[in-house]
Amino acid sequence: MSKMKLAVLTSGGDSAGMNAVVRAVVKAAILKGCETWIVREGYEGLVRGNSTDVHKSGEPHKHSHSVSVTSPRVKAFEGSDAESFVHNLRYGDGELLRDGTGDHPGGRTLKGRYIVRVGWDDVRGWFSEGGTLIGTARSATFRTHEGRLDAAKNMMKEGIDALVVCGGDGSLTGADVFRAEWPSLVQELKTEGRITEEQAVKHAHLKIVGLVGSIDNDMSMTDLTIGAPTALHRICESIDNINSTAYSHSRAFVLEVMGRHCGWLALMAGVSCGADFIFIPESPPDADNWADEMCKMIQSHRDVGKRKTIVIVAEGALDTKLQPIRADQVKDILSERLGLDTRVTTLGHTQRGGRPCAMDRILPTLQGVEAVEALLEATPDTPSYMIGVRENKITRVPLMEAVKMTREVAQAISEKDFEKAMSLRDPEFVESLEGFYSTATLESEPKLPHHLRMRVAIMHVGAPAGGMNAATRAAVRYCIRQGHKPFAIHNGFVGLLDDLVHHLSWLGVDNWMTRGGSELGTNRKLPDIDLGAVAAKFQQYNFHAFIMIGGFEAFNSLRILEQGRKHYPSFNIPMVHLPATISNNVPLTEFSLGSDTSLNALVDACDAIKQSASASRNRVFVVETQGGMCGYIATMGALATGACIVYTPERGIDLDMLRNDVKFLKRRYALDAKGKAEGRLVLRNEVASNVYTTEMIQKMFKEEGGSLFDSRSASLGHTLQGGIPSPTDRIRAVRLSLKCMAFMEEHHQAIQKQHTRSKQAPPESAAVITIQGTSVTWVPVTDMVEHADMKNRRGTHAWWDQHQELVEAMVARPQFLAKGVGKKE
Ligand code: ADP
Repeated sequence: MSKMKLAVLTSGGDSAGMNAVVRAVVKAAILKGCETWIVREGYEGLVRGNSTDVHKSGEPHKHSHSVSVTSPRVKAFEGSDAESFVHNLRYGDGELLRDGTGDHPGGRTLKGRYIVRVGWDDVRGWFSEGGTLIGTARSATFRTHEGRLDAAKNMMKEGIDALVVCGGDGSLTGADVFRAEWPSLVQELKTEGRITEEQAVKHAHLKIVGLVGSIDNDMSMTDLTIGAPTALHRICESIDNINSTAYSHSRAFVLEVMGRHCGWLALMAGVSCGADFIFIPESPPDADNWADEMCKMIQSHRDVGKRKTIVIVAEGALDTKLQPIRADQVKDILSERLGLDTRVTTLGHTQRGGRPCAMDRILPTLQGVEAVEALLEATPDTPSYMIGVRENKITRVPLMEAVKMTREVAQAISEKDFEKAMSLRDPEFVESLEGFYSTATLESEPKLPHHLRMRVAIMHVGAPAGGMNAATRAAVRYCIRQGHKPFAIHNGFVGLLDDLVHHLSWLGVDNWMTRGGSELGTNRKLPDIDLGAVAAKFQQYNFHAFIMIGGFEAFNSLRILEQGRKHYPSFNIPMVHLPATISNNVPLTEFSLGSDTSLNALVDACDAIKQSASASRNRVFVVETQGGMCGYIATMGALATGACIVYTPERGIDLDMLRNDVKFLKRRYALDAKGKAEGRLVLRNEVASNVYTTEMIQKMFKEEGGSLFDSRSASLGHTLQGGIPSPTDRIRAVRLSLKCMAFMEEHHQAIQKQHTRSKQAPPESAAVITIQGTSVTWVPVTDMVEHADMKNRRGTHAWWDQHQELVEAMVARPQFLAKGVGKKE
């Protein structure tokens, strides 16, 4: 079978993560034995093609080393032998794209060339750049038949038979139109004599796949679009900054954020920043009295002493009569009716820019690899797919179905069918909206009758993690709304024994969304320091429900308390554990609070380190990460930073491994373009090995690197706990915390109904809330134990471990280690 010739383009509005898509697609395709092109300026580039009179690219740069491959045994993916891989290493135009000049002093130029052959090294270092280096555009010509005819001709000229399109719903519609029309375009070109019979046969079908690049998160059938998480980061950074000035002057700020038909950014920003009011198109306020509703809510917040007011307005916000709601209008209402000193901030294009966050590096990488898979499997009978994500799973859905469903949201809104518009959004959207109102509304009367109200104890256990305070804030706000009494236990079980127990107020937790660390103070001690005394304190404070926010120790504590129920009646209450730890080592749950913040801290640090590593000399940085006996942060961090080696406690380190690592690095550096060697990262979990320490590995690399490369080390240590929690952690915190509260209410009510004198809590009322696959699942702590490796303090199954293979594939480790590659190192 002939090699697939694949091109990738970015189209429509730019978004962070598009470069990661291009990088992943190019790399995965090369690994599969395909030849790769990038198309500059979206569809416009396809239409324009390459003028023949300019300097042609297409010849790979010559390598100074001869390469003979006899037996490429170690392969990450099928389809690429080491010889063809090395041939595809570099065409040299990646630099021109990255420089943004399109020109090279040596005469190499991109002028007049829109469909550019690229190799493995052409896309290196693209990870950390925002926007799209290959350019994007809105192409009117491509909307015309003639335009698409030229596009088809230009693709065939290069021999390209597969196309990856990354863009919004418009771009993906264009992709579908193009594919549907392709056979007739081929016929037409043949009839006109613009292509040969042979070309017509060879290019009878076009394979196409779509990836959704959009900051709005407006595509149906996928949880996240590429770039949306980064845009949310930018919005939250801005609001976090505005908060302090708003507080200082006791001002109100009305922020307009992007999102035409989709309120995702506004809603998630509202939740993560603890806004006072939001306006989104899917859930419009009543046309006749929204101003009253808003003023009532904001006044209630001011009445309890709140000094700042944040209102977020989605660009496409409407009322129930479809009248647009504008930021200026909201400002006037707040100034006139409530007398608030109000300012408007329109975030505009700052939302699009900046470095991609960790999620906008990992997801595009996984999706890019999947896109290439989908193309390789495509037949003339399969539909074009869109690659998406559902919770933690990469998905393939028919592209046109997703586009159709997306359009239905706008349609439903225009027909005032808001219920339908909401139903077309994913469950997290709906839950987040409920979450927003649960935490922002301050009722004059609690919702529950006296006999159902609880005294709720809240404790942080283990080490601090981003989102702990956000979860606590949500729990406290929910408690107050329902009529429960929230109690903070400071400093864990030790604090409980010392009576460090305080009532938490609605206003007191107001700023906690953005606070990192743990406002309550954490402690690693388990309740078995004195279980009887702990039980006595539970009784003394008459707790009806208990929520622990923390890591493996919290899980272990819950296990101990549940076992203690036999002896201590005061533990016969609903008790839950909400996993929060940067190590992400709680069994069964795929994500704990803090793990996203931590990955982002790692990405930030590693970007800076990599810069230094590239600038100095050919330097390999061995970076030590936290994570205890769990390799999550090291592995996912490696995927998010493009690290070339990762050491985890699960896999350990041995001499053979190190020998191969040295060999890989030597061959890699030997095949770098002269004077253009890159800084490279190696991530090592702090306890991956007791013997092969970070220092030892760094020294070994330095010694072995000789004239090829140098080595240094850095330890990220506690910086990984992060500063301000990431928006993802804050949103998850609110969503999960509210589910915890509902769970405890339900069990409390069931226990209250027992007619016996001493009430018994069933085993399932002591449970851990977990994210598994596409759902949030409660697991009784008694069932958790079989999934826990108690000795190593982690789960028995590590879902991310499979990504280590991908980390290695993305640096072509198997290809570089294949016999004969870079022989003269
Ligand atoms: P987005 O992809 O961000 O939604 P647009 O709607 O502007 O952005 O679409 C980007 C480009 O996709 C358009 O400029 C056009 O070239 C192409 N396109 C969109 N819709 C179609 C269509 N129906 N037929 C052909 N091309 C289309």
